[in-house]
Amino acid sequence: MRRGGSHSVYNFSSGPAALPAPVMQRARDEFLNFAGTRLSIVETGHRTGAFSAVVAQADADMRALLGLGDDYAVIFLQGGATLQFLMTALNLARDGQHCAYLDTGYWSGKAIATAREVRPVDVVASGAAGGYTQVPSADAWQSFDAAAYLHYTPNETIDGLEFDFVPDTGKVPLVADMSSTILSRPIPVERFGLIYAGAQKNLGPAGLAVVIVRRDLAERAAADVPSQLTYRAHIAAGSLLNTPPTFTWWLVGMTLAWVREQGGLEEMDRRAIARSRIVYAAIDESGGFYVNRINRAQRSRMNIPFGISDDRLESHFLAAAEEAGLKQLAGHRSKGGLRASLYNAMPVAGAEALAAFMRDFAKRNG
Ligand code: PMP
Repeated sequence: MRRGGSHSVYNFSSGPAALPAPVMQRARDEFLNFAGTRLSIVETGHRTGAFSAVVAQADADMRALLGLGDDYAVIFLQGGATLQFLMTALNLARDGQHCAYLDTGYWSGKAIATAREVRPVDVVASGAAGGYTQVPSADAWQSFDAAAYLHYTPNETIDGLEFDFVPDTGKVPLVADMSSTILSRPIPVERFGLIYAGAQKNLGPAGLAVVIVRRDLAERAAADVPSQLTYRAHIAAGSLLNTPPTFTWWLVGMTLAWVREQGGLEEMDRRAIARSRIVYAAIDESGGFYVNRINRAQRSRMNIPFGISDDRLESHFLAAAEEAGLKQLAGHRSKGGLRASLYNAMPVAGAEALAAFMRDFAKRNG
């Protein structure tokens, strides 16, 4: 992607993350003239016809991409995925029901801690003992037949661990935090009761979370849940219970349209496989210079944490990568090391550029 200067720049941020270049170019071109109104999107009312059209189109594109039927509602909300840690528990568990969680890394840990503030939580399996390098095998999960739902994090953004299966929960609703994997592959949506995701990775800029919820589950909240925190209130208000981040919503809409134009989820899947293979190959073929500890079958296609076995070289790596236009490759502050996030907007050429840089760096410093 060319931006500003004559050099290609690739942005490996985990989020807010790279957006598709055509989306940003269109946002720039139309910033002062939104939908032909000669007003900017950022000064346009959220109940105008022009903005209502953005809302309707984003809903339609999300539904088309995921193949959602009328039995699912799509809601756009503020408060990020973090607020959904709370809302899922408050809305879906009632009358003393327990909530079941799979603990597979940093973000599922946050979801568990938040749910525990309001509801009884059972952790039915944890990967903590193994350092979150693999998903605990389903045969070893405790039973959760009486739980309000089973929550899991299909892709752990920080740990770089991605489920290679969709948990089988029988009649218990399945809840997924898809913040860092949504729209990166086709999913059997009918197996999910609720899916949520922060926008700032695969959907657009920061400021919104999307919630896809089966309508019967959205009605489950007990009467003592404050109405602003119920899914049913947001559904009834068409996601406009208060003034939304209109600019973010506009860009989310453009990003959804871009995914459709590119060929939809099959094509996103194909690219995710191609990009991640290229970067993992650079790690695996480095003779131990670079390391990634995740179980191979469950390595994330979206977020690749890695280290240099001589970790004193990591700051040098980051500085040289930055110089080469390979941006934001530092690992999460809780973990250190390096991490390459390869979301939908990352061209395959970006993964190739990173892999070439890694090979060259290893040759020069190995
Ligand atoms: N869940 C996952 C899997 C994430 O990656 C993140 C953000 N990196 C969050 C939750 C938190 O998202 P937010 O900042 O939108 O609350």
